[in-house]
Amino acid sequence: MLYKSTRSDLNCSSAEAVLKGLAADGGLYIDPAVMSMEFDWERCVSLSERECAVMVLSTLLPDFEDMEGLVEKAYSGKFDNECIAPLVPCGEDYVLELFHGPTSAFKDVALSMLPQLITSARNNLGMEQQVLILTATSGDTGKAALEGFHDVPGTGIVVFYPEGGVSPVQRAQMVCQQGANVKVCAVRGNFDDCQRGVKEAFAALSGESEKVHLSSANSINIGRLAPQVIYYFTAYSQLLERGDIELGDKVDFVVPTGNFGDILAGYYAKLMGLPVGRLVCASNANNVLYDFINTGVYDARRPFIRTSSPSMDILVSSNLERLLFLACGGDDEKVKGWMAELKKDGVYKVDKATLENIQAVFSAGYTDEKSSLETIGRIWNEEKYLCDPHTAVAFSVLEELKKEGLCKNKCVVLSTASPYKFPAAVLSGIGGSSEGDEFSQMDELCAISSVPVPKNLSGLKEAKELHLDVIDKEELTGYVRAIIQQGGLG
Ligand SMILES: *Cc1c(COP(=O)(O)O)cnc(C)c1O
Repeated sequence: MLYKSTRSDLNCSSAEAVLKGLAADGGLYIDPAVMSMEFDWERCVSLSERECAVMVLSTLLPDFEDMEGLVEKAYSGKFDNECIAPLVPCGEDYVLELFHGPTSAFKDVALSMLPQLITSARNNLGMEQQVLILTATSGDTGKAALEGFHDVPGTGIVVFYPEGGVSPVQRAQMVCQQGANVKVCAVRGNFDDCQRGVKEAFAALSGESEKVHLSSANSINIGRLAPQVIYYFTAYSQLLERGDIELGDKVDFVVPTGNFGDILAGYYAKLMGLPVGRLVCASNANNVLYDFINTGVYDARRPFIRTSSPSMDILVSSNLERLLFLACGGDDEKVKGWMAELKKDGVYKVDKATLENIQAVFSAGYTDEKSSLETIGRIWNEEKYLCDPHTAVAFSVLEELKKEGLCKNKCVVLSTASPYKFPAAVLSGIGGSSEGDEFSQMDELCAISSVPVPKNLSGLKEAKELHLDVIDKEELTGYVRAIIQQGGLG
């Protein structure tokens, strides 16, 4: 299988795609073969979770050796549940809990695997340089990436976060990170300043050193997308095991969506044969994807709204580009045109056939702040299930769609964060008092719900702060250059 850019003929192997992240023309790497792929999905859903992971990953990323060993290293002992993604019944629906990893966020599923893929690709290609990962974060990605890459041989990682722009728990998660090959630095500015700074550092420093290869861990990397396909199959296996569906029955998935990676992985699973019914794209008040799926017009010219589900506060969803490519039959010229319009005017419109292909599979809904907090309360009162604000957006959208007579198959809601990552919002949803700092809010939540606080979060209260660097945004390139000049980290 050969990967190519969504915007031109540029192509490479899957290993190179993982190492590069983004194609040189600005496009995303994709394997057009996924559109007509032979895959024994019936066998896949009969396997154990680990075996299923190996089968899915070695199909999507064929030129990696020893995928079994890589999967073992990525997931062994890192998740607090026997299962990476347990399926929990909730009323007449199900929740797929993706937050049992080392940082209690769904990003752990992919960011546990990505370092293994990067090291393996580096070895296969005989690269001697250290792969230095640069990441700008608004909170969750930084910690999950640090947890994935710390002490992985041949790699180093630097995370930049906006000073004062992340929650106290998120800051503590990052500045207390141990590991010889990690650095965390606050930037006097906002998230956009961090992201712009990282891009400038890439442009200025790529190829400057013989000893270091710069790379990125953000979600456009195919090495982050592929591991997310696994849990659609294992969710289906768990429904079969429970006897709640028969082999071949369709299942709908409701996905709290930001950058469109999680839900796109569901589309991959469908292309690979899994009986996926509807894929429901759930948004918060930033409802650009809702409008797009309903009208074919992607219009990013609108105010950015801060919500209690911050990981979905996004106006330009990067991974949508891969869906456009697949839905228009792999026409890279078309995709390139739409992306150019988006860059120039902030808006584009897809043709009728492409829109129909998208609407044949995807539904969309969105919800405002008030009803997502009410939904946290409703799910708690009715089902005694505690969900985080992102998951609540998905539940709220599902309820609306059911009222319209949609989603008639078994429905799985993907849960992307532990409620303890957002204790204040969850407390206000269930009518508790959200006084005190986030640690006392966690205790309060635990007292009400009896759901234990994940150790990685409760342990932060006593953890030692190790990374106290703070820089101006103009200093970011210089900061990275100094690391490169000493030959990388660790
Ligand atoms: C990243 C994230 C999302 C959005 O996932 P995408 O793949 O970007 O669509 C939703 N919820 C949480 C908690 C996240 O961290």
